[in-house]
Amino acid sequence: MHYTSTRNNTVQVTAAQAIAGGISPEGGLYVPTEFPRLTAADIDSLVPLNYKERATRILSRYLTDFTVEETAECCTAAYGDRFDTPAIAPLHDMGDGRYVMELWHGPTCAFKDMALQILPHLMRVSVGKTNPDEQIVILVATSGDTGKAALEGFRDAPNTKILVFYPVDGVSEMQRFQMITQEGNNVGVCAIRGNFDDAQTGVKAIFTDNEVKEKLAENGMRFSSANSINWGRLVPQIVYYISAYSDLVAQNKIQNGDAINVVVPTGNFGNILACYYAKCMGLPVNKLICASNQNRVLTDFFETGVYDCNRPFFTTTSPSMDILVSSNLERLLYHLSGNNSDEIAALMSALQTEKKYTVSDKVREAVQSQFVGGSADDTRVADTIRTIFEQNDYLCDTHTAVAMAVYEDYRTNTGDTTPTVIASTASPFKFAPAILDALGGAEADKPYEQLEELKVKTDWNIPQPLGSLRDKVIRFTDVCDNDKTGMQSTVYRMLHLD
Ligand SMILES: *Cc1c(COP(=O)(O)O)cnc(C)c1O
Repeated sequence: MHYTSTRNNTVQVTAAQAIAGGISPEGGLYVPTEFPRLTAADIDSLVPLNYKERATRILSRYLTDFTVEETAECCTAAYGDRFDTPAIAPLHDMGDGRYVMELWHGPTCAFKDMALQILPHLMRVSVGKTNPDEQIVILVATSGDTGKAALEGFRDAPNTKILVFYPVDGVSEMQRFQMITQEGNNVGVCAIRGNFDDAQTGVKAIFTDNEVKEKLAENGMRFSSANSINWGRLVPQIVYYISAYSDLVAQNKIQNGDAINVVVPTGNFGNILACYYAKCMGLPVNKLICASNQNRVLTDFFETGVYDCNRPFFTTTSPSMDILVSSNLERLLYHLSGNNSDEIAALMSALQTEKKYTVSDKVREAVQSQFVGGSADDTRVADTIRTIFEQNDYLCDTHTAVAMAVYEDYRTNTGDTTPTVIASTASPFKFAPAILDALGGAEADKPYEQLEELKVKTDWNIPQPLGSLRDKVIRFTDVCDNDKTGMQSTVYRMLHLD
């Protein structure tokens, strides 16, 4: 099985080349040229397996240049004992056809761990197959959760350095503490002046800059990416949708073959795209419901076929979804255009020059037949958190609450009662101030006291990785400008190349 580029479909690379490289040289994203078939019998055979065994089965179908032993070893390292529940991604039954898929039981309490715990292992195997003598430099732009999860996944990984940029005012206190106290000998963290899109644009510019690449090459180094533009980030996310479906079958909540809906709180479009890929394989998914916060570029896109970033950027209580440019949408459009890389290259160039593009009628209709968009603002999110806590005794974080609210609207508007999996993407303790506000107001004003307050108020336990932060030492305090010069000199300094 091979991978090609969304902007040049004559490219042909293996999974190892796609994962070690991160992004295609002309700026496109790697996509599979075909989808492995998942039959009802395949699902039956997954039902009795545990998460890491299911992951090995599914990933082997995509990583055809890895041996099954290599894939199994990666899955064991990632999903063996680093999560706080053996289920890894447990389903919480809300009792009314809603199943919350909790993706935040990993070491940083956010769904990014699902992929970033395994990516370093996939990367190690991939680099071993492609460029065994090179040192890999992982550059990350983060809206909060990716940075910490990537730092934790890659810390002290052999032959690897990891550098993380985050928007100085765009992450929560807890997220910031998690990053600036990161341990490990191969890590660097820097704040940038600007928002997440500035950070992502800056990282992409450095990533594709020939002068920078040459400088690294002279020193035996090469960039790769841990953002969800990397195929190695995306492919592990396909697993939990198939695993959740297998769990529903195992628990007799559905029959194998029944359709489900899936709701995903969306930012960069990686998580929901993984569900689309599971659907392409044959997983019986009816509607893919894409939930946005007040930055509702995607909601408008699903309605109109026009992707337009010329609009105000809002800082919300769900910062990991404060994104105007959802990079992974490019992959969806590539598939729905009938693998037309010229069409996609033209759209992406329009996005760069006009911050806007309009897809063809064919693509718009294909999108609308499978996806539904919806958005919820901060007030609605707070109401949703409070109502669900009062009525269902269930605590959800701000991102998950966006999904809950959008799903409520969908169900009201359509009357569709198909069993529905709702992706829950962060522990509520990661966003304690907003959760406390939603539940009636915080009394404490220090992050650690707020954790305690939330615990007392809800009778939920503080996850260990957050509770232990208060004893950690602050290591990273740099702030740089978000232009290329600022970020480039920071990269050189962190790599000791200046
Ligand atoms: C990253 C993130 C999202 C958005 O996921 P995408 O794959 O970027 O769409 C949603 N919620 C949380 C908590 C996240 O960390």
